[in-house]
Amino acid sequence: MVIVLERNIKDHDKERIREFLTAKGFQVREIAGEEETILGAVGHLTIDFREVETLEGVQRVIPISKPYKLASREMKQADSVVSVGKIKIGGRRIAVIAGPCSVESYDLLLETALIVKQSGAVMLRGGAFKPRTSPYAFQGLGEEGLRHLRDVSDLTGLPVVTEIVSPSHVDMMCDYIDVFQIGARNMQNFELLKAVGPSGKAVMLKRGLSATIEEWLMAAEYLLAHGAEDVILCERGIRTFETYTRNSLDISSIPVVKKLSHLPVIVDPSHATGIRNKVPPVALAAIAAGADGLIIEVHPRPEKALSDGPQSLYPEQFEKLMRDIQAMSPVLEKEVTKLPDGSEPRTVFPTIDTSGSGAEPGNVEVAFQGELGAYSEIALGRYFQADGIVSRPCPSFRDVFEAVLTGNVRYGVLPIENSLAGSIHENYDLLLQYPDIHIAGETKIRIIHSLITAPKTTLEQVHVVRSHPQALSQCARFLDQHPDWERVPFYDTSGSVAYLAEKGNPGDAAIAHSETARRYGMKVLAEGIETNPQNYTRFVIIAREENAAVAAPDLVSIVFSTPNEAGSLFTCLQLFAKHQLNMKKLESRPIHGRPWQYMFYVDLEIGNDLDVVNRCLGELGEVALDLRLLGMYRSS
Ligand code: PEP
Ligand code: MN
Repeated sequence: MVIVLERNIKDHDKERIREFLTAKGFQVREIAGEEETILGAVGHLTIDFREVETLEGVQRVIPISKPYKLASREMKQADSVVSVGKIKIGGRRIAVIAGPCSVESYDLLLETALIVKQSGAVMLRGGAFKPRTSPYAFQGLGEEGLRHLRDVSDLTGLPVVTEIVSPSHVDMMCDYIDVFQIGARNMQNFELLKAVGPSGKAVMLKRGLSATIEEWLMAAEYLLAHGAEDVILCERGIRTFETYTRNSLDISSIPVVKKLSHLPVIVDPSHATGIRNKVPPVALAAIAAGADGLIIEVHPRPEKALSDGPQSLYPEQFEKLMRDIQAMSPVLEKEVTKLPDGSEPRTVFPTIDTSGSGAEPGNVEVAFQGELGAYSEIALGRYFQADGIVSRPCPSFRDVFEAVLTGNVRYGVLPIENSLAGSIHENYDLLLQYPDIHIAGETKIRIIHSLITAPKTTLEQVHVVRSHPQALSQCARFLDQHPDWERVPFYDTSGSVAYLAEKGNPGDAAIAHSETARRYGMKVLAEGIETNPQNYTRFVIIAREENAAVAAPDLVSIVFSTPNEAGSLFTCLQLFAKHQLNMKKLESRPIHGRPWQYMFYVDLEIGNDLDVVNRCLGELGEVALDLRLLGMYRSS
């Protein structure tokens, strides 16, 4: 059962409830949510719920109808986020784990780890104990393989996940690994589940070859009931009559499990298909279906692999897949998880340094324009997926710049361009006015508008709808179906929800993101009401120069003007062609105080060789006027 506690429950009341339940033979767990704190109680005996409901500090008691309790959504409404070191899996993230099927040697493991890390994997896989169908097939290197995993993990910073096959290995393996993998063949090896549960490590539980979803969740329940805190489910295909592929990926299990359980679900397209060129399309389908991540077999020379070569991707295939996932993520309103230490290729995350930020120790403050729940704050949350990030609303874009400049906050998040409405010129102009502020990163989010009302309002009651004029016009087709509604322009989208929450008028509606509705305790009456679904906004992360450096940047933003003479812009642009730098964007803006003269903003894609970039910018400085580097950062 789930016991929802009163918001301001006293510690001794909570303790008394715990004691009461423990005495009745229940296992009790506290789950602190954003909105409420609950106790989950699981046990053999049935008791009269009213006995619990009348205890001091209890708000209500909800029975759990499913046979799995700790794993069920009834127990915990919010998505569970599993932490493995600094990596998080679950929530609005896509995490990719990759590596060879088995650990074959130290050198091969390191070579593969560096390849998958370069392409954006955040965790390394590799079996040291291989449960093979044939007793004559390669069985893995055993403890020697674990040592290689640990050494390569320490060198690359990638945590490792590897399969455990015997309860007697738990203690020994704990010294080497970060995540235990329970293989498909062992999903219902209950003695193994009971042994792994209390280890304190995260566990990735693969679905058995012929297990129903309920059996799979019951296996997860075994782990949770025996002390596991962090469980990741992994769909890896089931046995069907189909023989063309190795297994059949049960893609519908993803939305089914995500509804039944709060646990993150990742997908293994390698074992699901067994065929290399089927892996990328199936992987993308899994992500589209809502998977929280993927575990993929990659090998530098698959034809020589000691196991599962035919399904292992070539490094180039993996790189392409990662790019495709990256391109898909804004559509799904997700962010691909990056290694968070800021020193790695593909890391867009700036190094978070809290010293002198004025925030609580361990916290980093980030400013955005708008009310709480604004699209800018949603972008901020997607980019800085870390604990200890505190968002600070500011009335204007200029206030965001000021807050960063004065050191009141460490970073700012600003919209710079919308795929339908074009550039946000005010922010381009402000970048020019604040020479000490640099671009440190970027993120893109999809703009999905919802019709939001007070909790009890029905569609029939609505007669006024408020929002930012751009949001109103972007939802014109939906609003045209309700010609009698009055459309009232408001200063911003989240402000219109804040206003709704404050007034509580049943005839009022607002248009904003569904997360904004949740933030203010309001209801989403209709989601995805924007006329054009291809509506994306690109945000830049700004910082003072000393906080803006990121390792391995792949995009540079500059601004310059040109002498007032024939061919001067051409002369500048020619340099990008000469140095083979791809121009991603060119924007011109009038120079304030110099009518009919223009500044040119340019984004250039840069390769690994920073010397080329420096040479190009050096030459540009000779022919352009007022050249300024706005930032070098990782593209998203
Ligand atoms: C593996 O991940 O290498 C493996 C053996 O997977 P499964 O248990 O899904 O067959
Ligand atoms: Mn394998």
